Amino acid sequence: MSDPSTSPQTVDILVSGGGIAGLIAAAAFGASGFRTLMVDPTPPVVTGDEASSDLRSTAFLRPARDLFEKIGIWEALAPHATPLEALRIVDTVGRPATIRTERQFEGRETGDEPFGWNFLNWVIRRELARAVPDIPNVELRYGVGFKSLLTRSSEAMVTLTDGTMVRAKLVVAADGRDSPVREAAGIGVKTTRYGQKSLAFTATHDLPHNNVSTEIYREGGPFTMVPLPDIDGKPASAIVWMNKGAYATELLNLPPEAFNAVMTERAAGLFGEMKLASGRAIFPIITRVAERLASERVAIIAEAAHALPPIGAQGLNTSLNDLAELLALAEAHRSDPGTEAMLDTYARTRLNDISKRARVVDLFNRVTRSESDILQMVRLWGLKAVHDVKPVRMKVMQAGLGPI
Ligand SMILES: Cc1cc2nc3c(=O)[nH]c(=O)nc-3n(C[C@H](O)[C@H](O)[C@H](O)COP(=O)(O)OP(=O)(O)OC[C@H]3O[C@@H](n4cnc5c(N)ncnc54)[C@H](O)[C@@H]3O)c2cc1C
Repeated sequence: MSDPSTSPQTVDILVSGGGIAGLIAAAAFGASGFRTLMVDPTPPVVTGDEASSDLRSTAFLRPARDLFEKIGIWEALAPHATPLEALRIVDTVGRPATIRTERQFEGRETGDEPFGWNFLNWVIRRELARAVPDIPNVELRYGVGFKSLLTRSSEAMVTLTDGTMVRAKLVVAADGRDSPVREAAGIGVKTTRYGQKSLAFTATHDLPHNNVSTEIYREGGPFTMVPLPDIDGKPASAIVWMNKGAYATELLNLPPEAFNAVMTERAAGLFGEMKLASGRAIFPIITRVAERLASERVAIIAEAAHALPPIGAQGLNTSLNDLAELLALAEAHRSDPGTEAMLDTYARTRLNDISKRARVVDLFNRVTRSESDILQMVRLWGLKAVHDVKPVRMKVMQAGLGPI
């Protein structure tokens, strides 16, 4: 541990937050040659059976894979990936669920490879925790967090929770939806609440997923199944199940047998019998966007900048688009990453993309969860229109993959 009486440590980049986004940011800046320090009060949980294990999965889309290759961490992650060849959308109504229509979007229509690659979040953390310490120029410091910030035009002076101080050219806030750095920089947020919660867990099922991700719509919100490797010889998927808050909490507390029966019905019987294969985690669903993405010597990325409902794999993929933009700008201003001009460009470019994406996901969520007959018709016809008109289909698939 550093001695608080010694002079401040000097780095190029200080990353506050070692969630998946913060760890990848530290890896990216280090691999690019910037002296980088990452701090987080909580070490990563790298198993799937602890109360605080992250049971979500992340479907990394092609731009994320390109970034991982550039940083040199794809080799460590790739053996744990399940490729996503297609996205199948099934529209249902009523209980038991009746299928109204379904459409499949093929990844290879937009390039000669899968749409993306799915990983359990705790597995990503485990692999990053192993790989990132080997990247030159990176120091990961756990048990210590960001406390306060003082900036001037040439640098930021950060005080950490153990009293030590760090001088940095740029502070990268990757410290989550309640970001302490964002707050210290005086940046407000706009939050939309939907009264929805999402369950995240792993399940096995009788019928194979064939590397196709399936979203089953019904009022309340989508039931999304993203392919995983087999568990004990049975096909398995990571599931995100959005519902009104009270019903989601009821589902969280159902005994496993009863939960399995409700889940099998909710999946419209498409995968045969379904069985819980992990604990169940619950998340409130919000849209939250920071009013600005930068202030003097500070850049805000990932959930510190935007939390979105888990629809269309936009969350962490949007975060990696933030990082790719910030890294490219820092590389173009290598002698002084974090100048006002550089951060203005970052903030403007990314806020534009994030705001558009947040509006689309918000609208999509309102339409897909609605109990109104009219909106349920909009959902049905919207799906047909988006899929069946080729130029629209191509545009939507491209927009899902990269900045818009
Ligand atoms: C149900 C659900 C499913 C999802 N599925 C997908 C998906 O399929 N694809 C996708 O792209 N996205 C998905 N997302 C979004 C994605 O999971 C999040 O964007 C991502 O996990 C958030 O990562 P983060 O690193 O930004 O924040 P966090 O994981 O919240 O990390 C923030 C870190 O900051 C640290 N911290 C806190 N205080 C301090 C401090 N004072 N100093 C330093 N560090 C601090 C915390 O300890 C934490 O480690 C989903 C989200 C939900 C809710």
